[in-house]
Amino acid sequence: MDELLSSVSEKLTQFLHENLEDFKYFSDKVEKIKGYYLDILREILREEFDRNEVKKKSFVLGRYFFENDISYMLLLDIDDHIVPYVIELISSVEEDIPHFVSRIHLFEERVRYVENKVAYGYLTENIKQDKNWIREKLRIIKNSESTMKPFVRDHLIWVNRILEDIRKLRPSASVPLGHYNCELGRRLEHSDGLGIFDEYRDEIIILHKKIHGSAVQIYHFLHTRDYKHLLLEYLEFFNLVGKFVSLLGLTFAVMYEEDANIDPLTKVLSRRSLEFILSSQFHIAKISKRPLSVAMVDIDNFKQINDRYGHQIGDCVLRRIAQRIQDALRKSDFIFRYGGEEFLVLLPFTSKSDAVKVLDKIVSRVSGEPVKCGEFNQRVTVSAGVSSIEDARDIYSLISRADRALYKAKKAGKNRVST
Ligand code: GH3
Ligand code: MG
Ligand code: MG
Repeated sequence: MDELLSSVSEKLTQFLHENLEDFKYFSDKVEKIKGYYLDILREILREEFDRNEVKKKSFVLGRYFFENDISYMLLLDIDDHIVPYVIELISSVEEDIPHFVSRIHLFEERVRYVENKVAYGYLTENIKQDKNWIREKLRIIKNSESTMKPFVRDHLIWVNRILEDIRKLRPSASVPLGHYNCELGRRLEHSDGLGIFDEYRDEIIILHKKIHGSAVQIYHFLHTRDYKHLLLEYLEFFNLVGKFVSLLGLTFAVMYEEDANIDPLTKVLSRRSLEFILSSQFHIAKISKRPLSVAMVDIDNFKQINDRYGHQIGDCVLRRIAQRIQDALRKSDFIFRYGGEEFLVLLPFTSKSDAVKVLDKIVSRVSGEPVKCGEFNQRVTVSAGVSSIEDARDIYSLISRADRALYKAKKAGKNRVST
């Protein structure tokens, strides 16, 4: 037994070093996982084994994985790698064939038992964290006036009840599960003036159906006590819930102009909400494989206006320009005041070439007729830089690429669009 465990230990060390990426440099974590794993392995290799002991240890290992941000998939990978090796080692010492076969069989069954219990440990920790997230979201929406609020709130409460069922391993749902059993599901399908933009409506319906379908699967795995698949389904479920809530939240944040997110001078969205909205849109575009573009728009020679006419007139020009940009956009587009006289335009579902067309339109509309503000009555121009999701790995590179494109437009003579 000791010999077997020490060669498994060697193989496991090598495997963890190759597969733990970031953890490669944290040998204490590798040692810890190895310790837990070998301890459990020793236990399940015994002829008789203490089920309760294995259950406890597996649960602790699952929690350790979650707390250290290590994917449960890694455990399954370890098993895929190590289990055949252990079987090979056993078979090289085992001569009694029928006995051997039953042992292999037993061993594999015990491995599945461990995977199940590790999954349960991982899952319960995950649920604890997700429940906090739900509590936090409920707190945030409490003061919202939006008509979407009851739907967001009801879904958060619905998800919370499901989480409670999972935590208590209750196989029968304490809430209705179907897409059409849900008020929002029914109303979305009938498009009865919820006031959601069409582009979002489709995404919301897809997500809503997936979430309700995933909930059904969750209860199926609770019923069959297959916690390994329960965990995998749960991860998918909560991922969808996060996207769904931000999409609903986003829809009403824009429709109902929550004050904190509005720039008081220009009345467009403030920079405060940029990261949240842009990253939700970025994820939505990624999962739905739809295009997304952003543009940085900057007023040309704005300093001169301020210097010649004063700040009050400058402010007025800023407001007028923001309005002209806004008027050229669709309802589902976003405009943020990014800096002093810089705006960020976010164009969901828009390819780079279409975005360039939109920005060309903005540039020519802004300069099309003079801006009137008191004694000021002149044409004002803007420059714009466009970037798109296909060139960007995250929202920050999306913004910095637009910034660089803007710089190009300025260098090339202003009053134009560049990519
Ligand atoms: P360029 O064409 O290269 O963009 O030149 P510019 O003069 O527009 O650019 P610069 O960045 O040098 O100047 C921007 C000016 O915008 C400087 C700042 O005083 C002014 N500004 C920033 N925020 C506000 C604001 O809220 N109100 C007013 N009136 N002016 C502002
Ligand atoms: Mg400027
Ligand atoms: Mg500027």
